[in-house]
Amino acid sequence: MKCENCTKKECSKKQKNGDQQNTPVDVLDSDSENHETSEFHRLANAKIFLSDCLACDNCITSDEAVRIFQQNQKELFRVLSLNKKCDTSKHKVLAVSVCPQSLPYFAAKFNLSVTEAAKKLCSFLKSLGVHYVFDITIAADFSILESQKEFVQRYNHHHQEEHALPMFASACPGWIQYAERVLSSLVTPHICTAKSPQQIMGSLIKGYFARQQNLFPDKIFHIIVAPCYDKKLEALREDFYTPLYNSQDVDCVLTSGEVFQIMEQRNVSLKEIPEVAFDTLFGEQKESELIRYDGRRSDGYLEHIFKHAAKELFDTDVKELTYKVLKNKDFKEVTLEKDGQTVLRFAAAYGFRNIQNMVLRMKKGKCSYHFVEVLACPGGCLNGKGQAEMEDGKPNRALVKQMEDMYAAVPVRLPETNGYVQKLYQEWLEGMDSVKVQESLHTKYSTEKPAANSLDIKW
Ligand code: SF4
Repeated sequence: MKCENCTKKECSKKQKNGDQQNTPVDVLDSDSENHETSEFHRLANAKIFLSDCLACDNCITSDEAVRIFQQNQKELFRVLSLNKKCDTSKHKVLAVSVCPQSLPYFAAKFNLSVTEAAKKLCSFLKSLGVHYVFDITIAADFSILESQKEFVQRYNHHHQEEHALPMFASACPGWIQYAERVLSSLVTPHICTAKSPQQIMGSLIKGYFARQQNLFPDKIFHIIVAPCYDKKLEALREDFYTPLYNSQDVDCVLTSGEVFQIMEQRNVSLKEIPEVAFDTLFGEQKESELIRYDGRRSDGYLEHIFKHAAKELFDTDVKELTYKVLKNKDFKEVTLEKDGQTVLRFAAAYGFRNIQNMVLRMKKGKCSYHFVEVLACPGGCLNGKGQAEMEDGKPNRALVKQMEDMYAAVPVRLPETNGYVQKLYQEWLEGMDSVKVQESLHTKYSTEKPAANSLDIKW
């Protein structure tokens, strides 16, 4: 079975069965939709699986494939070993930024709280020779703030601008890859232009932090620890690259599982090593506490944008969101009513079959959502394949449940209340609405259609 945009004669990917992620796409809910002999049904009958399609090795270029496989533990040790050689011209400052969804993985593996796991992971990485360890949450703050601002702008102009709504979240590289290379101009104008937390962290480290340290960007080797492999592909995006310094904003992505393998190879248990607080971008200051966002399974874009829009557009304070679960727990919606009218309708669509259903509705003109938080992984980022997949390729449900419970215990903070972010808007970005904000916090999406002869199945 070939994927929709596969250009190979024979598919090299193994077929997998048995988990939700690999469940063939569903038909839509309503009877009227069920009996249609649409192209969608042909797709459903073809049993395209998520693992065959999203960011698979059949739709990436050979150059990208090489550069993805180069991002591994060996690359970290190559840089560490250069740092021990006499030739200081090849030395690099090693900075690691950790995704918040990776921390519950280490907490669960070593039976620690998420805060303990964060500090011990920091300690472990520094014992290897890493100079700085950062929490990506500060970049997620920027990403959420820019996303909610853009949503309000799009909402205010949606009668004049055809593609203003729905707005789709931009944080998941698996989804972005699929949207750009498969769905193309049908959805790309609808994707929020705010960069993902990983991309913003790249700008912060190679832009602001490098300047603070009086370093050229190429003198810093920046590693991300993330729950999924898709972020390795994201690190290669063109707008992540500064030609002047031949520097990629993120040089290497390691999954949580790959970092755990290093611990195993070195016989290190996080339980037995001391705690060291994360660094901040502000010199000697250390990260005081670990926080998360509203929304247990994502960075909380839907929750934050919904509450912000309710307040900004309709002067309504929303404390708790009440979801209506649709076809399954990974497809749910929430609405805001005002004077008997539905004024906001948001949805969360996680996993391939829900993405397919949502896009099909859109194609039929039946997508009534103003915002959709789209994530490629069923269950969200804690279920990323770089940490929640067992050796047989099936998701480790017990581990995911444990991680969800642990993550829920981390205190919630609103991005607006982060004083560091406000300081950076002034010091680094020259204000909230500056040209630098556009350059450093926003991106563009490719609207190039895949080559015509590469499409085996059309939507
Ligand atoms: S949903 Fe999955 S693919 Fe997307 S960012 Fe999260 S872990 Fe990665």
